[in-house]
Amino acid sequence: MVVAAAMPTRKRTTKTTTDQPLGRPLWAEIDLDAVAHNIAQVRSRVGSSRMLAVVKANAYGHGAPAVARACLDAGATYLGVFCVDEGIQLRQAGIMAPVLVMGYCPPWEAMEIVRHGLTASVSNPETVAALAGAARDAGVRSPAHLKIDTGMARHGVLPNEVPQFVQLIQAMPDVHLEGAFTHFATADESDKTFTKRQFQAFQQAAQHLPDGVIRHVANSATCADMPDEMGLDMVRPGICLYGRQPSGNLLRPMDLHPALMLKSYVARLHHLAQGETVSYGRTWTAPRNTRVALIPCGYADGLPRLVTNQGCVLVHGQRAPIIGRVCMDSHMVDVTDIPHAQLHDEVVIIGRQGEAEITAEEIAALAGTINYEILCGITARVPRSYLRGGEVVERTTLVSGVPEGVPLPH
Ligand SMILES: *Cc1c(COP(=O)(O)O)cnc(C)c1O
Repeated sequence: MVVAAAMPTRKRTTKTTTDQPLGRPLWAEIDLDAVAHNIAQVRSRVGSSRMLAVVKANAYGHGAPAVARACLDAGATYLGVFCVDEGIQLRQAGIMAPVLVMGYCPPWEAMEIVRHGLTASVSNPETVAALAGAARDAGVRSPAHLKIDTGMARHGVLPNEVPQFVQLIQAMPDVHLEGAFTHFATADESDKTFTKRQFQAFQQAAQHLPDGVIRHVANSATCADMPDEMGLDMVRPGICLYGRQPSGNLLRPMDLHPALMLKSYVARLHHLAQGETVSYGRTWTAPRNTRVALIPCGYADGLPRLVTNQGCVLVHGQRAPIIGRVCMDSHMVDVTDIPHAQLHDEVVIIGRQGEAEITAEEIAALAGTINYEILCGITARVPRSYLRGGEVVERTTLVSGVPEGVPLPH
């Protein structure tokens, strides 16, 4: 639990529901109990398969260290990141569990991989050789997972290259072929034909793996729809840990709890007369005398500019339409029909308030994208507050980890 001394909680005198961090009028609340619930849902589908929790991209915008710890507490035994830096971030946060770097590991990253005890995914001889060299120098045996490309046409060796590649790895005593995996292109569609074809190609290639190698193929959609056939030795859920469905097309969606809310507050209330305009480009003209609230959340925080004149936020449990262009750091909403709205009232941008809810999926639809991109798009300057039993147990901000007592310019 890390509540940095440099970030005191503002004792608020207004009626915002949660104590918010200083330094930024916008914050994300991540319910770690929801993450635990979602892990339990995956567990109930996949039986005894081991669980690698995918926490790449800052845990889909939720904050990797805190979410990784919650996943490990709830029964995950492996963590998955995309790149070496993301792995190092977990180590620097004191997390000792195995971490698979699922993205491309170039040979020149081998030393950092070994030094931080990460697991490389390998798909070319150059990286295997570099890993062996780095492991030998460090006097350790470095684990590696073989990535097989069965149809995604992204990372990996082709199935027919697997026998030769396995021989190559086995000729290197300093590298331990611990696992092998592939990734599905259409697992979240209702037609499973291509997924089954990819799975078959993987299983055929896997015949050339030595005994005991951990085989894993299942993303969230596969954990939901095909856990019995495709759970294998380990599963790799991502989006479902955060309480979101991978698509609207699953055959057996899990019962998930969204883990993240994005909140802000009213930073100004003012009036526009009929015919006056708002924001850059003057794309919205008041059709009537309008009460406008300024919300300090913009596209540099992750609210897509594409929701201009389309999206809503929640104020007093009611929808307030976004009017005018979303700016880098703020946007404006129409609160004419929410007469109780006051300065500093809490605003929900993603999540529930009273009976109303705005989902990441709703924002994604307006912006022409998927829920994944909305969550990953919540940027580093947005503080994250982590909750257990409804209480904040940890908080991170852009300046977390900056020591107190740094010199100031006066
Ligand atoms: C991102 C990713 C996952 C998780 O996918 P979800 O759809 O979020 O469950 C699993 N495996 C690999 C290799 C990935 O890149």
